[in-house]
Amino acid sequence: MRVDKARCVGCLECVCYCPVGAIKEFPQEERVFIDEEECVECGCCLRVGICEYDALWQPELSWPRIIRAEFSDPCLVHPSTSVTGRGTEETKTNDVTGRYPRGYVGIAAELGRPGTGTWMRDIERVAQAIIPLGVELVSDNPTYNLFEDPGKGKIKEDIRGEKVLSAILEFKTTVARAPQVLKALDKVAREVDTVISVDVASMLEPDGSLPAEDVAAEAGFKLRPNGKSNLGLGRPRAKILEGGKR
Ligand code: SF4
Ligand code: SF4
Repeated sequence: MRVDKARCVGCLECVCYCPVGAIKEFPQEERVFIDEEECVECGCCLRVGICEYDALWQPELSWPRIIRAEFSDPCLVHPSTSVTGRGTEETKTNDVTGRYPRGYVGIAAELGRPGTGTWMRDIERVAQAIIPLGVELVSDNPTYNLFEDPGKGKIKEDIRGEKVLSAILEFKTTVARAPQVLKALDKVAREVDTVISVDVASMLEPDGSLPAEDVAAEAGFKLRPNGKSNLGLGRPRAKILEGGKR
């Protein structure tokens, strides 16, 4: 995002609409500027139409900066998923998709929130903390394409300096490994320059128990259960067979 300095009158009306505080006031001039390091190209300031002077404008974004908009602008269709947004619905709709069969736990680590954002280098750091523990990244999640080598968690060199509003690392691991993976997430969350929210999902066992609940408790996580009633969503319910096969 840019500010046309000939049009801006420094009214500051736009400042509070920026989720990462990237619209800043020039100390001795009656106008604002966009801190391009911090701006995640979410488009919010322009979309709300708050500037009466048409001073905000969006230049065309090219690689690698376009990554910022793809992960931060909720109106933009993500090229890797063909839907808007930066994640996939699969972890929270596992009863429909069956992506995480019995014996496995699906985990989503969501880096960044409005007010903080996250850097690509943070995503790399988190990925490299968990991949050696035996996790498999979900390949149709938008973050998968950020890696030069998904098996090693190495982010493509030319995007390491980009910042986005948030990004979700989604992966599966076995029930046995999951507590160790969650503990590693807890540790790395204290080392990166952002916040991490963690989702844990698993199939219900025939006796009604939920492995995700047990592994979270073992790792010292306090669960905040989120209920979601999926009524099929027009898709056939996943057929889960013994041995982890669909
Ligand atoms: S709302 Fe427009 S005129 Fe006012 S500070 Fe922002 S860019 Fe400048
Ligand atoms: S595009 Fe988004 S991040 Fe950039 S200045 Fe506007 S509101 Fe802030």
